[in-house]
Amino acid sequence: MQGHILSRYAGWPVIIGAGLAGLMAALEMDGPCVLLAPSFTGEGTSSTLAQGGMAAAVAPGDSPASHAEDTLKAGAGLCDPAIVQRITEAGPQAVETLLRLGVPLARDENGQLALHLEAAHSHNRIVFAGGDRSGQVILQHILQQAQKKENIHWLQATLEGFHAHNGTLQGLWSSAGFIPTQHCILASGGCGGLYQHTTSPLSNRGVTLALAAQAGATVRDMEFTQFHPTALVTPDQTNRLSLISEAVRGAGAVLRLDDGHRFTNELAPRDVVSRAIAAQLREGRTVFLDGRSLPDGPFSARFPGITQACQKAGLDPNTQLLPVQPAMHYHMGGLKVDQTGRTTLKGLWACGEVACTGLHGANRLASNSLLEALVCGQWAGQDVNAAHQDTSTSLITTAPERPTFTTDWPFRAEMQQHLGILRTRKGLEEFLDRTLPLARQNLCALTASFIGWAALHRPEQRGAHWREDTPAPQPPHHIDMRLTDLPL
Ligand SMILES: Cc1cc2nc3c(=O)[nH]c(=O)nc-3n(C[C@H](O)[C@H](O)[C@H](O)COP(=O)(O)OP(=O)(O)OC[C@H]3O[C@@H](n4cnc5c(N)ncnc54)[C@H](O)[C@@H]3O)c2cc1C
Repeated sequence: MQGHILSRYAGWPVIIGAGLAGLMAALEMDGPCVLLAPSFTGEGTSSTLAQGGMAAAVAPGDSPASHAEDTLKAGAGLCDPAIVQRITEAGPQAVETLLRLGVPLARDENGQLALHLEAAHSHNRIVFAGGDRSGQVILQHILQQAQKKENIHWLQATLEGFHAHNGTLQGLWSSAGFIPTQHCILASGGCGGLYQHTTSPLSNRGVTLALAAQAGATVRDMEFTQFHPTALVTPDQTNRLSLISEAVRGAGAVLRLDDGHRFTNELAPRDVVSRAIAAQLREGRTVFLDGRSLPDGPFSARFPGITQACQKAGLDPNTQLLPVQPAMHYHMGGLKVDQTGRTTLKGLWACGEVACTGLHGANRLASNSLLEALVCGQWAGQDVNAAHQDTSTSLITTAPERPTFTTDWPFRAEMQQHLGILRTRKGLEEFLDRTLPLARQNLCALTASFIGWAALHRPEQRGAHWREDTPAPQPPHHIDMRLTDLPL
């Protein structure tokens, strides 16, 4: 299939995705650029769903060095210390950026920024807005600022493929046509929608990551998928699950089994709590979050957004127990990038959740992803500005033949079962037997196969990756893969 060429945009940098990372990249652009996404309202973004807020060392007595230390500890030996230092040092400036863009961050009674504490942070360092609606408030304000910029051209469309020649990007197919360009920033989010239980938008299924891999980009540490311990169980398990933020446990809510007994330390790291719940669910037990008597007042006053989600499911968190289960929440792995967001495919940058910068390692520290999306979006935009000025090679003028891929995905339950919190060689092999034969044609199967293949080749328990059959640790190492590394 050939498709028509969008010559109006020829040679312009194209940014894919209108979540936090994409919008921050777009705000940096000096000249005309295209912002391409299916929607410009926050719909389909994880950014707008963020509840807790953004981590940054701005409290008296806190420091970027302490933030970096906590990040490295959570990352279980696989963070890149240089990028951890750079991003945590950029945290206070990122808070200034939010304020400059008009985001009404919450303040305390003295007019100072209010700061939450979250699990595994050694200081109160999470800035937030709108109670538990941080992402929504942040994104709406940034969208408004981006809409004022005349150099940003909004193209409501989806990415359908990259065209590369000799290891260099030459253009991309979208549902609106082919755009010849040698500069693209991919900010298309994670892949939670591959799983049956996820807190992410179901449209985030790793399709764009697979397209980048098809064009030659390298992926890194794909096996590291973070499960949030407490997603609300609803009768309809096919939809996205509502998240019940860690802040609820921080505020005093406890986990109980169906007989009322507590079974774990609710404030242990996210992966530890998730595994404790998963083990109970596997035994056929039901797990509840009990927020009926929080020390600082009723649940609904402290968590209005979560209360609304519970009410939609027919539950009153002030008086009732909330059934919970872990759900896929964040992808630490992704497209391998350098400090400026460059992937291994020349002309393609990546930022936000689709990228693997080295900040999170084997496990993300809570609220570090909005920070990463904000600053890495900016850095990618700045680097594209500089690179775009140097362009001297000519652009292609006719749309090349487009390879056709499929994106149907009937394996959400299998993904949950075999590539979930507790993994075994047998389960991974069974899963790969089904997906590898599809992965050349089917983009969801390709991303899922990368995750499965990397999980199979990491026979250890590290961070969010837990092989039940091989607990012995291996020396810290990354797993980098290209399309040709899979046995397709
Ligand atoms: C429920 C929930 C709560 C969270 N809470 C927090 C929190 O409190 N703090 C924190 O730091 N992190 C939190 N996270 C994680 C954080 O929100 C995300 O990691 C981050 O927002 C990702 O931003 P992004 O810009 O990379 O992607 P997204 O915000 O997901 O945006 C992706 C964009 O790409 C577009 N896109 C996708 N596919 C295509 C395509 N084919 N063509 C064109 N466009 C496409 C999407 O439509 C969207 O516009 C939370 C995540 C979830 C799911």
